[in-house]
Amino acid sequence: MNPAIEKPEVKTLGILGNGQLGQMLATSIAEQTNLTVNLYDLRAYDETSLQQFLNANDRISYETENIPAHIVIQMESVESKVYPSLTALKTFQNRLTEKNALRAAGIATAEFHAVNCLADIHDAVTKLGLPIIMKTTTEGYDGKGQFVLRQPSDATAAWAEIGNRELIAEAFVPFIREISVIGCRSETGEINVWPMTENIHHEGILRYSLYPAHGFSKEKQAIAERYIEQIANSLDYVGTITLELFETEDNLIANEVAPRVHNSGHWSIEGAKTSQFRNHMLAVTGQEITATDSLYPAVAMINVISDETPTEAANGMSDTHVHSYGKEARPARKLGHVTITADNSDDRDKKITQLEGLIPEGVWSK
Ligand code: ATP
Ligand code: MG
Repeated sequence: MNPAIEKPEVKTLGILGNGQLGQMLATSIAEQTNLTVNLYDLRAYDETSLQQFLNANDRISYETENIPAHIVIQMESVESKVYPSLTALKTFQNRLTEKNALRAAGIATAEFHAVNCLADIHDAVTKLGLPIIMKTTTEGYDGKGQFVLRQPSDATAAWAEIGNRELIAEAFVPFIREISVIGCRSETGEINVWPMTENIHHEGILRYSLYPAHGFSKEKQAIAERYIEQIANSLDYVGTITLELFETEDNLIANEVAPRVHNSGHWSIEGAKTSQFRNHMLAVTGQEITATDSLYPAVAMINVISDETPTEAANGMSDTHVHSYGKEARPARKLGHVTITADNSDDRDKKITQLEGLIPEGVWSK
Protein backbone atom coordinates (compact mmCIF):
# COMPACT_ATOMS: atom_id res chain seq x y z
CA MET A 1 0.00 0.00 0.00
CA ASN A 2 1.19 3.52 -0.76
CA PRO A 3 1.91 5.12 2.63
CA ALA A 4 0.97 8.51 1.19
CA ILE A 5 -2.64 7.35 0.86
CA GLU A 6 -4.30 7.83 4.24
CA LYS A 7 -6.91 5.25 5.15
CA PRO A 8 -10.32 6.71 5.94
CA GLU A 9 -11.09 6.97 9.65
CA VAL A 10 -13.10 4.08 11.04
CA LYS A 11 -16.34 5.52 12.43
CA THR A 12 -18.37 2.34 12.85
CA LEU A 13 -17.26 -1.12 13.92
CA GLY A 14 -19.63 -4.08 13.77
CA ILE A 15 -18.94 -7.09 15.98
CA LEU A 16 -20.50 -10.45 15.16
CA GLY A 17 -21.80 -11.84 18.44
CA ASN A 18 -23.37 -9.95 21.33
CA GLY A 19 -22.33 -12.15 24.24
CA GLN A 20 -20.13 -11.11 27.13
CA LEU A 21 -17.02 -10.84 24.96
CA GLY A 22 -18.74 -8.52 22.49
CA GLN A 23 -20.06 -6.43 25.34
CA MET A 24 -16.70 -6.17 27.09
CA LEU A 25 -15.12 -5.23 23.74
CA ALA A 26 -17.64 -2.42 23.26
CA THR A 27 -17.28 -1.17 26.85
CA SER A 28 -13.50 -1.06 26.60
CA ILE A 29 -13.57 1.77 24.08
CA ALA A 30 -16.81 3.48 25.10
CA GLU A 31 -15.08 6.82 25.69
CA GLN A 32 -14.19 7.12 21.99
CA THR A 33 -17.33 8.99 21.07
CA ASN A 34 -16.31 9.24 17.41
CA LEU A 35 -16.50 5.44 17.14
CA THR A 36 -19.84 3.64 17.16
CA VAL A 37 -19.73 -0.05 18.04
CA ASN A 38 -22.62 -2.23 16.89
CA LEU A 39 -23.17 -5.81 18.03
CA TYR A 40 -24.93 -8.42 15.88
CA ASP A 41 -26.79 -11.23 17.61
CA LEU A 42 -25.72 -14.33 15.67
CA ARG A 43 -28.54 -16.38 17.18
CA ALA A 44 -31.07 -14.06 15.53
CA TYR A 45 -29.34 -14.45 12.15
CA ASP A 46 -31.13 -13.97 8.90
CA GLU A 47 -29.44 -13.31 5.59
CA THR A 48 -30.90 -9.87 5.00
CA SER A 49 -30.22 -8.40 8.42
CA LEU A 50 -26.65 -9.73 8.40
CA GLN A 51 -25.93 -8.29 4.95
CA GLN A 52 -27.28 -4.96 6.07
CA PHE A 53 -25.05 -5.10 9.16
CA LEU A 54 -21.98 -6.04 7.11
CA ASN A 55 -22.60 -3.20 4.66
CA ALA A 56 -23.45 -0.58 7.29
CA ASN A 57 -20.21 -0.80 9.31
CA ASP A 58 -16.79 0.52 8.24
CA ARG A 59 -15.15 -2.55 9.72
CA ILE A 60 -16.30 -5.93 10.97
CA SER A 61 -14.86 -8.01 13.81
CA TYR A 62 -16.16 -11.03 15.73
CA GLU A 63 -16.27 -12.24 19.33
CA THR A 64 -16.16 -15.94 18.46
CA GLU A 65 -14.55 -18.24 15.88
CA ASN A 66 -17.58 -20.52 16.03
CA ILE A 67 -19.29 -18.81 13.12
CA PRO A 68 -21.30 -21.14 10.85
CA ALA A 69 -20.02 -21.70 7.29
CA HIS A 70 -22.95 -19.96 5.58
CA ILE A 71 -22.24 -16.81 7.58
CA VAL A 72 -18.53 -16.97 6.79
CA ILE A 73 -19.44 -17.19 3.09
CA GLN A 74 -21.59 -14.09 3.47
CA MET A 75 -18.71 -12.30 5.23
CA GLU A 76 -16.66 -12.80 2.06
CA SER A 77 -18.76 -10.09 0.42
CA VAL A 78 -17.00 -7.54 2.68
CA GLU A 79 -13.73 -9.45 3.09
CA SER A 80 -11.40 -6.43 3.02
CA LYS A 81 -13.02 -4.88 6.08
CA VAL A 82 -13.03 -7.99 8.28
CA TYR A 83 -10.48 -7.87 11.14
CA PRO A 84 -8.91 -10.25 12.12
CA SER A 85 -8.93 -11.42 8.50
CA LEU A 86 -11.25 -14.08 7.14
CA THR A 87 -8.16 -16.15 6.37
CA ALA A 88 -7.27 -16.10 10.07
CA LEU A 89 -10.86 -16.91 11.06
CA LYS A 90 -11.06 -19.86 8.66
CA THR A 91 -7.63 -21.15 9.68
CA PHE A 92 -8.51 -21.23 13.38
CA GLN A 93 -12.06 -22.49 12.90
CA ASN A 94 -10.78 -25.89 11.98
CA ARG A 95 -8.41 -27.78 14.26
CA LEU A 96 -6.58 -29.36 11.29
CA THR A 97 -5.86 -26.11 9.41
CA GLU A 98 -5.04 -24.56 12.79
CA LYS A 99 -2.44 -27.20 13.65
CA ASN A 100 -0.96 -26.99 10.15
CA ALA A 101 -0.68 -23.20 10.47
CA LEU A 102 1.01 -23.52 13.86
CA ARG A 103 3.49 -26.03 12.47
CA ALA A 104 4.14 -23.86 9.42
CA ALA A 105 4.92 -20.95 11.76
CA GLY A 106 7.51 -23.08 13.56
CA ILE A 107 5.45 -23.79 16.68
CA ALA A 108 5.45 -27.15 18.44
CA THR A 109 2.12 -29.02 18.58
CA ALA A 110 1.02 -32.52 19.56
CA GLU A 111 1.38 -35.13 16.81
CA PHE A 112 -1.95 -35.45 15.03
CA HIS A 113 -3.80 -37.39 12.36
CA ALA A 114 -6.88 -36.49 10.30
CA VAL A 115 -9.83 -38.85 10.79
CA ASN A 116 -12.63 -39.17 8.23
CA CYS A 117 -13.70 -42.77 8.82
CA LEU A 118 -13.41 -45.56 11.37
CA ALA A 119 -10.32 -47.02 9.66
CA ASP A 120 -8.53 -43.67 10.09
CA ILE A 121 -8.88 -44.04 13.86
CA HIS A 122 -6.93 -47.30 13.74
CA ASP A 123 -4.27 -45.60 11.60
CA ALA A 124 -4.12 -42.85 14.22
CA VAL A 125 -3.53 -45.42 16.97
CA THR A 126 -0.66 -46.90 14.96
CA LYS A 127 0.84 -43.48 14.32
CA LEU A 128 0.23 -41.77 17.68
CA GLY A 129 0.05 -44.55 20.27
CA LEU A 130 -2.45 -44.39 23.15
CA PRO A 131 -4.21 -42.59 24.71
CA ILE A 132 -5.47 -40.32 21.93
CA ILE A 133 -7.66 -37.24 22.23
CA MET A 134 -10.24 -37.25 19.45
CA LYS A 135 -11.89 -33.92 18.66
CA THR A 136 -14.34 -32.65 16.09
CA THR A 137 -12.37 -30.34 13.78
CA THR A 138 -14.96 -27.57 14.09
CA GLU A 139 -17.33 -26.12 16.68
CA GLY A 140 -15.76 -27.52 19.85
CA TYR A 141 -15.60 -25.39 22.99
CA ASP A 142 -15.33 -26.00 26.73
CA GLY A 143 -14.18 -29.56 25.94
CA LYS A 144 -17.35 -30.41 23.97
CA GLY A 145 -17.01 -32.73 20.96
CA GLN A 146 -14.12 -34.68 22.45
CA PHE A 147 -13.47 -38.34 23.16
CA VAL A 148 -10.48 -39.87 24.91
CA LEU A 149 -9.52 -43.11 23.19
CA ARG A 150 -7.74 -45.37 25.66
CA GLN A 151 -7.74 -48.65 23.76
CA PRO A 152 -8.19 -49.63 20.09
CA SER A 153 -11.57 -51.20 20.87
CA ASP A 154 -12.89 -47.73 21.85
CA ALA A 155 -12.68 -46.70 18.19
CA THR A 156 -16.24 -47.73 17.30
CA ALA A 157 -17.69 -45.92 20.30
CA ALA A 158 -15.63 -42.81 19.50
CA TRP A 159 -16.82 -42.76 15.89
CA ALA A 160 -20.44 -43.27 16.98
CA GLU A 161 -20.29 -40.57 19.64
CA ILE A 162 -18.50 -37.69 17.91
CA GLY A 163 -17.72 -39.08 14.45
CA ASN A 164 -19.55 -39.33 11.16
CA ARG A 165 -17.86 -36.02 10.47
CA GLU A 166 -14.29 -34.80 10.21
CA LEU A 167 -12.23 -35.39 13.34
CA ILE A 168 -8.67 -34.81 14.46
CA ALA A 169 -6.82 -37.38 16.53
CA GLU A 170 -4.15 -35.88 18.76
CA ALA A 171 -1.42 -37.62 20.69
CA PHE A 172 -1.93 -37.14 24.42
CA VAL A 173 0.43 -34.46 25.79
CA PRO A 174 1.56 -35.30 29.33
CA PHE A 175 1.50 -31.70 30.46
CA ILE A 176 2.42 -30.23 33.84
CA ARG A 177 -0.16 -27.50 33.49
CA GLU A 178 -1.92 -25.26 31.01
CA ILE A 179 -0.78 -21.74 30.21
CA SER A 180 -2.09 -19.18 27.78
CA VAL A 181 -0.37 -16.34 26.05
CA ILE A 182 -2.37 -13.44 24.65
CA GLY A 183 -1.00 -10.83 22.33
CA CYS A 184 -2.32 -8.06 20.16
CA ARG A 185 -0.97 -7.08 16.76
CA SER A 186 -1.69 -3.75 15.09
CA GLU A 187 -2.07 -2.99 11.40
CA THR A 188 1.48 -1.67 11.38
CA GLY A 189 2.76 -4.99 12.72
CA GLU A 190 3.49 -3.94 16.30
CA ILE A 191 2.85 -6.73 18.80
CA ASN A 192 2.24 -6.35 22.53
CA VAL A 193 1.98 -9.43 24.74
CA TRP A 194 0.24 -9.65 28.12
CA PRO A 195 1.88 -11.38 31.07
CA MET A 196 1.00 -15.07 30.93
CA THR A 197 -1.46 -16.89 33.16
CA GLU A 198 -1.68 -20.42 34.43
CA ASN A 199 -5.18 -21.77 33.73
CA ILE A 200 -7.00 -24.32 35.86
CA HIS A 201 -9.86 -26.23 34.24
CA HIS A 202 -12.48 -28.51 35.72
CA GLU A 203 -14.75 -30.70 33.60
CA GLY A 204 -13.50 -28.97 30.47
CA ILE A 205 -14.25 -25.43 31.70
CA LEU A 206 -11.79 -22.77 32.79
CA ARG A 207 -12.32 -22.14 36.51
CA TYR A 208 -9.54 -19.70 37.31
CA SER A 209 -6.39 -18.10 35.95
CA LEU A 210 -3.34 -16.96 37.90
CA TYR A 211 -0.67 -14.42 37.17
CA PRO A 212 2.16 -14.97 37.77
CA ALA A 213 2.16 -18.70 37.10
CA HIS A 214 4.13 -20.24 39.95
CA GLY A 215 7.71 -21.02 38.92
CA PHE A 216 7.18 -20.27 35.23
CA SER A 217 10.70 -19.82 33.84
CA LYS A 218 11.99 -16.85 31.84
CA GLU A 219 13.00 -19.28 29.10
CA LYS A 220 9.48 -20.62 28.70
CA GLN A 221 8.09 -17.10 28.81
CA ALA A 222 10.40 -16.21 25.93
CA ILE A 223 9.25 -19.27 23.97
CA ALA A 224 5.59 -18.31 24.44
CA GLU A 225 6.21 -14.74 23.34
CA ARG A 226 8.08 -15.98 20.29
CA TYR A 227 5.24 -18.36 19.46
CA ILE A 228 2.56 -15.68 19.58
CA GLU A 229 4.66 -13.37 17.43
CA GLN A 230 5.35 -16.14 14.91
CA ILE A 231 1.72 -17.15 14.49
CA ALA A 232 0.46 -13.54 14.35
CA ASN A 233 3.13 -12.42 11.88
CA SER A 234 2.69 -15.50 9.68
CA LEU A 235 -0.94 -14.51 9.00
CA ASP A 236 -0.44 -10.72 9.06
CA TYR A 237 -2.94 -10.92 11.91
CA VAL A 238 -4.63 -7.77 13.26
CA GLY A 239 -6.31 -7.81 16.68
CA THR A 240 -6.01 -9.77 19.91
CA ILE A 241 -4.97 -13.41 19.55
CA THR A 242 -4.67 -16.17 22.14
CA LEU A 243 -2.52 -19.25 22.14
CA GLU A 244 -3.41 -22.02 24.60
CA LEU A 245 -0.30 -23.95 25.58
CA PHE A 246 0.63 -27.11 27.41
CA GLU A 247 3.68 -26.77 29.62
CA THR A 248 5.82 -29.88 29.63
CA GLU A 249 9.07 -30.49 31.54
CA ASP A 250 11.25 -28.68 29.02
CA ASN A 251 8.95 -27.08 26.46
CA LEU A 252 5.66 -25.46 25.55
CA ILE A 253 3.34 -27.27 23.13
CA ALA A 254 0.60 -25.31 21.38
CA ASN A 255 -2.91 -26.66 21.90
CA GLU A 256 -5.12 -24.22 20.06
CA VAL A 257 -5.53 -20.65 18.94
CA ALA A 258 -8.45 -18.34 19.62
CA PRO A 259 -8.56 -15.49 17.07
CA ARG A 260 -10.03 -13.21 19.70
CA VAL A 261 -9.95 -12.13 23.31
CA HIS A 262 -9.92 -15.04 25.75
CA ASN A 263 -11.44 -15.87 29.12
CA SER A 264 -7.95 -16.23 30.62
CA GLY A 265 -7.28 -12.58 29.75
CA HIS A 266 -10.26 -11.05 31.55
CA TRP A 267 -7.96 -10.06 34.42
CA SER A 268 -6.41 -7.45 32.11
CA ILE A 269 -9.46 -5.15 32.49
CA GLU A 270 -8.31 -4.08 35.94
CA GLY A 271 -4.92 -5.75 36.05
CA ALA A 272 -3.06 -4.45 33.00
CA LYS A 273 -2.18 -1.04 31.57
CA THR A 274 -4.38 -1.87 28.58
CA SER A 275 -6.93 -4.67 28.54
CA GLN A 276 -7.08 -7.41 25.90
CA PHE A 277 -10.45 -5.93 24.86
CA ARG A 278 -9.26 -2.37 24.40
CA ASN A 279 -6.19 -3.28 22.39
CA HIS A 280 -8.32 -5.48 20.13
CA MET A 281 -10.62 -2.53 19.49
CA LEU A 282 -7.70 -0.19 18.86
CA ALA A 283 -6.07 -2.67 16.46
CA VAL A 284 -9.15 -3.57 14.43
CA THR A 285 -10.06 0.08 13.98
CA GLY A 286 -6.59 0.83 12.63
CA GLN A 287 -5.23 2.62 15.71
CA GLU A 288 -1.96 2.14 17.57
CA ILE A 289 -2.11 -0.38 20.39
CA THR A 290 -0.87 0.49 23.90
CA ALA A 291 1.12 -1.11 26.74
CA THR A 292 0.09 -4.49 28.15
CA ASP A 293 2.18 -4.63 31.35
CA SER A 294 0.56 -5.81 34.55
CA LEU A 295 -0.31 -3.06 37.02
CA TYR A 296 0.02 -5.44 39.98
CA PRO A 297 2.55 -8.02 41.11
CA ALA A 298 -0.16 -10.70 41.31
CA VAL A 299 -3.62 -11.17 39.81
CA ALA A 300 -6.28 -13.88 39.70
CA MET A 301 -9.44 -14.29 37.67
CA ILE A 302 -12.12 -16.66 38.93
CA ASN A 303 -15.06 -17.63 36.73
CA VAL A 304 -18.58 -17.61 38.14
CA ILE A 305 -20.28 -20.67 36.65
CA SER A 306 -23.72 -22.35 36.69
CA ASP A 307 -25.73 -21.11 39.62
CA GLU A 308 -22.89 -19.74 41.70
CA THR A 309 -23.37 -16.14 42.65
CA PRO A 310 -20.52 -13.79 43.42
CA THR A 311 -20.64 -13.88 47.17
CA GLU A 312 -21.33 -10.95 49.43
CA ALA A 313 -17.74 -11.47 50.50
CA ALA A 314 -16.47 -10.69 47.01
CA ASN A 315 -18.51 -7.50 46.83
CA GLY A 316 -17.11 -6.35 50.15
CA MET A 317 -13.49 -7.40 49.62
CA SER A 318 -10.82 -4.87 48.72
CA ASP A 319 -9.01 -5.15 45.38
CA THR A 320 -11.73 -7.46 44.11
CA HIS A 321 -13.79 -6.72 41.02
CA VAL A 322 -17.02 -8.56 40.30
CA HIS A 323 -18.29 -8.76 36.72
CA SER A 324 -21.76 -10.09 36.06
CA TYR A 325 -22.78 -10.87 32.49
CA GLY A 326 -26.50 -10.54 33.24
CA LYS A 327 -27.24 -14.10 32.12
CA GLU A 328 -29.74 -16.57 33.46
CA ALA A 329 -28.17 -19.41 35.48
CA ARG A 330 -27.73 -22.66 33.57
CA PRO A 331 -25.48 -25.66 34.22
CA ALA A 332 -21.89 -25.06 33.03
CA ARG A 333 -22.73 -21.53 31.87
CA LYS A 334 -20.28 -18.69 32.50
CA LEU A 335 -22.28 -16.04 34.38
CA GLY A 336 -19.50 -13.69 35.35
CA HIS A 337 -16.01 -13.46 36.74
CA VAL A 338 -14.16 -12.00 39.69
CA THR A 339 -10.74 -10.38 39.34
CA ILE A 340 -8.43 -10.13 42.32
CA THR A 341 -5.40 -7.85 42.35
CA ALA A 342 -2.70 -8.19 44.99
CA ASP A 343 0.75 -7.04 46.10
CA ASN A 344 2.13 -10.58 45.96
CA SER A 345 1.10 -14.15 45.19
CA ASP A 346 0.54 -15.03 48.86
CA ASP A 347 -1.97 -12.22 49.31
CA ARG A 348 -3.62 -13.17 46.05
CA ASP A 349 -3.91 -16.78 47.17
CA LYS A 350 -5.39 -15.76 50.54
CA LYS A 351 -8.07 -13.82 48.72
CA ILE A 352 -8.80 -16.76 46.44
CA THR A 353 -9.22 -18.95 49.51
CA GLN A 354 -11.80 -16.45 50.81
CA LEU A 355 -13.69 -16.93 47.54
CA GLU A 356 -13.25 -20.68 47.45
CA GLY A 357 -17.04 -21.07 47.24
CA LEU A 358 -16.80 -20.07 43.58
CA ILE A 359 -14.47 -22.97 42.78
CA PRO A 360 -15.55 -26.64 42.76
CA GLU A 361 -14.29 -28.65 45.71
CA GLY A 362 -10.71 -29.84 45.40
CA VAL A 363 -9.92 -27.60 42.43
CA TRP A 364 -8.31 -24.80 44.46
CA SER A 365 -5.13 -26.16 45.95
CA LYS A 366 -2.93 -23.53 47.54
P1 ATP B 1 -11.88 -24.61 25.43
O1 ATP B 1 -13.10 -24.02 24.86
O2 ATP B 1 -11.92 -24.71 26.93
O3 ATP B 1 -10.61 -23.98 24.95
P2 ATP B 1 -11.97 -26.76 23.58
O4 ATP B 1 -13.26 -27.46 23.53
O5 ATP B 1 -11.66 -25.78 22.54
O6 ATP B 1 -11.81 -26.13 24.98
P3 ATP B 1 -9.32 -27.95 23.82
O7 ATP B 1 -8.81 -26.71 24.42
O8 ATP B 1 -8.64 -28.42 22.60
O9 ATP B 1 -10.88 -27.90 23.54
O10 ATP B 1 -9.27 -29.12 24.88
C1 ATP B 1 -9.89 -29.01 26.15
C2 ATP B 1 -8.98 -29.55 27.23
O11 ATP B 1 -8.69 -30.95 26.99
C3 ATP B 1 -7.62 -28.88 27.24
O12 ATP B 1 -7.67 -27.67 27.96
C4 ATP B 1 -6.76 -29.97 27.91
O13 ATP B 1 -6.98 -29.98 29.31
C5 ATP B 1 -7.34 -31.25 27.33
N1 ATP B 1 -6.60 -31.65 26.12
C6 ATP B 1 -6.92 -31.28 24.86
N2 ATP B 1 -6.04 -31.78 23.97
C7 ATP B 1 -5.14 -32.49 24.65
C8 ATP B 1 -3.97 -33.26 24.29
N3 ATP B 1 -3.59 -33.42 23.02
N4 ATP B 1 -3.27 -33.86 25.31
C9 ATP B 1 -3.67 -33.72 26.59
N5 ATP B 1 -4.76 -33.03 26.98
C10 ATP B 1 -5.50 -32.41 26.05
MG1 MG C 1 -9.04 -24.93 24.64
